[in-house]
Amino acid sequence: MKHIYTHEELLVLHSVKNILTRHGIDSFVKNEHVAPMSARHGISNMFHELWVYNDEDYTKASTIIENEVENPEPKVSWHCAGCDEDNDGSFEVCWKCENPPAEI
Ligand SMILES: [Zn+2]
Repeated sequence: MKHIYTHEELLVLHSVKNILTRHGIDSFVKNEHVAPMSARHGISNMFHELWVYNDEDYTKASTIIENEVENPEPKVSWHCAGCDEDNDGSFEVCWKCENPPAEI
């Protein structure tokens, strides 16, 4: 087992875990259900850890985290062939003429 990722928000760790699961990598959040000593002392920013079960998955998992969590691909804007307008990458169809983007 190897420690792969640390974050203070459990929610974030679980979404990272889901991403890894989609790639066929088994992982778990360490000490998720253990009340940390620090909480009783008023320290709220406790960090949680995500671990992969198989050491062989470590390299693949860190690449996935790097690509999908740390540096998510920016959506590129696209040019509508129908009406010559530029569209934001988040638009699924042209804002002006509602044409879908041409296949690249
Ligand atoms: Zn258009």
